[in-house]
Amino acid sequence: MAEKRDYYEILGVPKNATDAEIKKAYRQLAKKYHPDLHPGDKDAESKFKEVNEAYEVLSNKNKRARYDQFGQAGVDPNFGGGAGGSPFTGDINIDDIFNSVFDGFGGFGGFSGFGGNTRRHSANVPRRGSDSESSVSISFEEAAKGCVKTVSYDQVAACSDCHGTGAKSGTSARTCPQCGGSGQVRVSQRTPFGVVQTTRTCDRCGGSGRVIDTPCPVCGGNGHVRQHRTIEINIPAGIDNGQILNVSGKGNTGLNGGPSGDLHVSVSVRPHPIFERRGNDIWCEMPITFSQAALGADVVVPTIDGRVEYQVHAGTQPGDVFKLRGKGIPKLGSRGRGDQYVKMTVEVPKNLSQKQKDILREFESVGEERNYQKRKSFFDKIKNMFGE
Ligand SMILES: [Zn+2]
Ligand SMILES: [Zn+2]
Repeated sequence: MAEKRDYYEILGVPKNATDAEIKKAYRQLAKKYHPDLHPGDKDAESKFKEVNEAYEVLSNKNKRARYDQFGQAGVDPNFGGGAGGSPFTGDINIDDIFNSVFDGFGGFGGFSGFGGNTRRHSANVPRRGSDSESSVSISFEEAAKGCVKTVSYDQVAACSDCHGTGAKSGTSARTCPQCGGSGQVRVSQRTPFGVVQTTRTCDRCGGSGRVIDTPCPVCGGNGHVRQHRTIEINIPAGIDNGQILNVSGKGNTGLNGGPSGDLHVSVSVRPHPIFERRGNDIWCEMPITFSQAALGADVVVPTIDGRVEYQVHAGTQPGDVFKLRGKGIPKLGSRGRGDQYVKMTVEVPKNLSQKQKDILREFESVGEERNYQKRKSFFDKIKNMFGE
């Protein structure tokens, strides 16, 4: 493929030149290299052709936009037949066959920021940035009520010094002379099937279609830098441990003007000393004394909304569960809340004083069968078992 210079370079205008500036530059150059003025001069003739080709693209709004975005690939009808994947382009693209065999195990790669211009990715095509990852640890209450947290992460972003071009500030990248900006070179390859036309990634530009003469000293010519970022994110009420929040567009910056990736924030919720989450319900255990269990009592139960009074009824048994409706976790992404379940445990007193022992012995001596239905039922079953 013939060497192709950058169209703006050919016309000697900046990238943001107006239509009038382009027209003016074209007129001057067309006059300068016009074949009538240089009969038999091959160099002038090719320059004249070049100038016309550049003007044809840059004077057409659509073509210019495509050229700005995709480079040569956007305006050259000869480009991309094999790389685009159309199966009926005439040439057998043996690269496709080989790549599908050898790449099958590795996928497409390219998970790191800008990926890198690997294999058949066309040059200068906008590509979405990859996603960034971060994590945040929040308390049980924060998960239940929602919160705002500052999250930090590493982001691959366009270098602000060279605006992502990789070329030192004040200079610019130029079209790769080896591949003419396509990022691909055609080679003839001898195979058992005969000589076959194949395309290879251009090794001069690595497939990007552009070469940089003076790399940007800030990013080393990559056009991107890894930077530490912090952002505030809203964590919605009801989020659960292990869930991942997606923050749209805060990931790594895209390539060639492509959109940024997303930021994934993995949320871990620290365990609570009292509460345990089950779905949207909260469970907890509540120890009471056996006199409270026997006599009934007003107790104070902790909830995520604060303390709530609850009347324990007389004769409450260990393991009995009562429910506080609507005191659970807000349902993520919808209305309503779960419930809170409180499981009663009865603590048997230890380290009794003499007086306490005396009272309990007296209490035991006046015990009646009707006080202990479970116990009665148990001994009745034993009697039946032994036929007594
Ligand atoms: Zn830079
Ligand atoms: Zn190249």
